[in-house]
Amino acid sequence: MNTLAELLTNEPKYRLKQIQKAWFDLSLNSYEEITTLPVELREKLKNLPWLSVKLHTILKSKIDGTEKALLELSDGELIETVLMVRESLKENKEASKWPVEERHTICISSQVGCAMNCFFCATGKAGFKRNLTTEEIVDQYRFWQRRLTGHISNIVVMGQGEPLLNYDNLKNALNIILNNTEIGPTKITVSTCGIPEQMEKLLADKDFPQVCWAISLHSAIEETRKKIMPAHRKDFVKFLVDWSRRYHELIPSRTHFIGLEYLMLAGVNDDEKHRKALEKLANKIPRVKINLIPYNDTNSPGLSKTSQTVIDDWHDYLMKAGFVCTIRHSQGQDIAAACGQLCNRTTTDAVKNV
Ligand code: SF4
Repeated sequence: MNTLAELLTNEPKYRLKQIQKAWFDLSLNSYEEITTLPVELREKLKNLPWLSVKLHTILKSKIDGTEKALLELSDGELIETVLMVRESLKENKEASKWPVEERHTICISSQVGCAMNCFFCATGKAGFKRNLTTEEIVDQYRFWQRRLTGHISNIVVMGQGEPLLNYDNLKNALNIILNNTEIGPTKITVSTCGIPEQMEKLLADKDFPQVCWAISLHSAIEETRKKIMPAHRKDFVKFLVDWSRRYHELIPSRTHFIGLEYLMLAGVNDDEKHRKALEKLANKIPRVKINLIPYNDTNSPGLSKTSQTVIDDWHDYLMKAGFVCTIRHSQGQDIAAACGQLCNRTTTDAVKNV
């Protein structure tokens, strides 16, 4: 079957924009229904699937309601995407009480598998298969949009894959979502394990949306980082300091932070020496947020979770030192939907096909 791009070859450029706008219209369910397109074009497009991803299995956490969907792509490959629901107080000065509203954060994938092979990550163990297309990235958003009653408040590109190694498709997908929904760039966070040449590229790229970045750091000591992240580049820590300074010069907005993601691993990166190294690095990065992440079991030999006492100690220490520091509350642990656990597992005792 011809792809959308092939079918639009001889059409004016604005047709694609009309179609992208229609993708997000929940009242439409096929290309045939896009009445802004000429009848002949609708006829040509009518056999294209309205979504490029198909639901294979969905699991719902019994603990916190997190949902993990396994989606099938047109070539039979599977990817995972996660919906996390949190309640937060709605800002409404007129109301006598502060009503609670649900916030929906979706975690989306950028590749089938991943080549980075981080030691603690289930996706990395499965290896790399291919990049997702622009449509397959966008359609993870559309999949949840169609399933939800409320709107999607945040997107994190922290699912399977290294987003910066699928640069063009990621950039296009984010721009399509930003141009056709109410979500703003500061509500989107892209996480990278740090590919210096791609990080340079995005600073020079005016078309790359001004989203927030989370750097999978996991150790500010290069020797340790190299052990747990084989894709670590020499002198990355030094590069990160310089890159962050230039990022903030480019985007001076106070709403843009650089996130440092720090997975805490017992006996690996959680002692005093590593804490001091993290503090030293964070002191050199303006508007930095540190996110301490408890390890979720991925059956990696020799890895175990840092005790909650040590995590709390680090948190208190870093807060007292003046940093914005959070401890990630891992959602969806009973369905292997938490950080580092995405690996297309379909068997679990959680509820299937809800
Ligand atoms: S942590 Fe991210 S970059 Fe590392 S292997 Fe897993 S998916 Fe890839």
